[in-house]
Amino acid sequence: MSRPSYALIDLDALASNYKKLRALHGGKAFAVLKANAYGHGAVMCATRLEPDADAFAVAFLEEALKLREANIQKPILLMEGVFDIKELRKAVKHGFWIVVHQLKQLEMIEQCASEMRGLNVWLKLETGMNRLGLNYTLASEYKERLSAIKSISKISFMTHLACAEDHESDFSIKQVERFVNATSGLDCELSVCNSAGVINAVGRNFDWARIGIAMYGVNPVRESLISLTPVMTLRSEIFTVREVKKGEVVGYGCANKVDRDSRIGIVALGYADGYPRSAMGCKVLVNGQLTKTLGAISMDMLAVDITDLKNVDIGAQVELWGGGTHVSEVAQHASMSPYELLCNVKRVDFLEFPRWRG
Ligand SMILES: *Cc1c(COP(=O)(O)O)cnc(C)c1O
Repeated sequence: MSRPSYALIDLDALASNYKKLRALHGGKAFAVLKANAYGHGAVMCATRLEPDADAFAVAFLEEALKLREANIQKPILLMEGVFDIKELRKAVKHGFWIVVHQLKQLEMIEQCASEMRGLNVWLKLETGMNRLGLNYTLASEYKERLSAIKSISKISFMTHLACAEDHESDFSIKQVERFVNATSGLDCELSVCNSAGVINAVGRNFDWARIGIAMYGVNPVRESLISLTPVMTLRSEIFTVREVKKGEVVGYGCANKVDRDSRIGIVALGYADGYPRSAMGCKVLVNGQLTKTLGAISMDMLAVDITDLKNVDIGAQVELWGGGTHVSEVAQHASMSPYELLCNVKRVDFLEFPRWRG
């Protein structure tokens, strides 16, 4: 018997969320698999998505290499581009698509132009977020400069939205306007929208979307109607049970006193596995019944209140998040972002969901 702590990954939900979002946007879509597929397991997710996805996107070279080593054949975009010439050579060798977001990267390509073939480049334009990108007003000059390099087979343009999840803000409109003006007449494929951009319909009709968080079943836009299925269920078990008298403490911290005689279950999952310390008192499901965590979250375990629950003992199933307790609710309770919670999951077994269903 090993420690019964799992991230159950519903790959059918992943694929169906991807297809739904791709159709909503229109055109093609990168399935974004950076940070180990937002904590879901990049190889497993890529393998399931490969028949449907137009291309994948990751942050940097190592992440792409892991996918290629696992025999993923579809194009993979490096969204931070390459960091040095060694990386550029490797990226070319494996056929990765690369973002060029600063002059240094453009110069690297010029420098080894003679040794490369078939390079697919995405010029990233800075339109307001002030993170990555070349000045949008110079888009045509950069394109011209890259067009002069024979080893480049394709040039496309992208930009990234700073507050696409915000209905009220007209900032996205401004960014889209700058991007559209800067690239008009250049006859290149364009990419603007992340998940929130797709759902909020800022600039549909671009050639490519880049879909991350929503593909994993988390809707970044509040009060939107699209229904997405959560992909990850974080599950563990109660492995010991105890009775605690009113006024006694539970876990670290002498302030964590129970206010009634309680029955508590100790669960084999803690903050080192990615359940946040700040989720004290957050809702959880135990054998399908709603209750709360109790006291401080420890590194390897946490306590849940089972005083009022029926048929709960050692071996009871605990859902920390999933279909019943949405990761967005846990994130809100913990004052964290669902992106952060999902990326933090580690030290548990990653299993395909259907094996465990029913
Ligand atoms: C991570 C990332 C995305 C995906 O964003 P989501 O909000 O998860 O959909 C898209 N584009 C870029 C450049 C990114 O870094």
